[in-house]
Amino acid sequence: MKIDGACACGTIKVDGEADPEATQICHCTDCQTGTGTAFRVSIPVPGASFKMTGTPTFYLKTTAESGNPRVQAFCPVCGSPIYSTTPGEGVQKSYTVRVGILRQRDQLIPRRQNWFRSARSWVTGLAEIPKNEKQASR
Ligand SMILES: [Zn+2]
Ligand SMILES: [Zn+2]
Repeated sequence: MKIDGACACGTIKVDGEADPEATQICHCTDCQTGTGTAFRVSIPVPGASFKMTGTPTFYLKTTAESGNPRVQAFCPVCGSPIYSTTPGEGVQKSYTVRVGILRQRDQLIPRRQNWFRSARSWVTGLAEIPKNEKQASR
């Protein structure tokens, strides 16, 4: 399906073709730190279809929990995570795009949870945590 989206401030825009069945959660500790939250939700977009406007800032993570160096791209203005990919010049084979920046995120339901050994203990119990429709009352 076609996917497109933008960072929080609109400096970076992306679009491409992605298989919604490939939407995945990553619970690794790098994703926890890189998002500032409990896990990351991403979808791979083949390099052949991936397009971007704006210039992200790159951080090359050489000590990833997976052992593979990854380039992390994020907006230099608002800090939204945009994607990760393999290091190297030119178009990469695949871009792992962050689902939270995509307009189609309602349709991108994770099908797999990776690095579950690092998952926060409460992620399987979200339904049990009291809910507010909008912001917290305290
Ligand atoms: Zn931005
Ligand atoms: Zn991860």
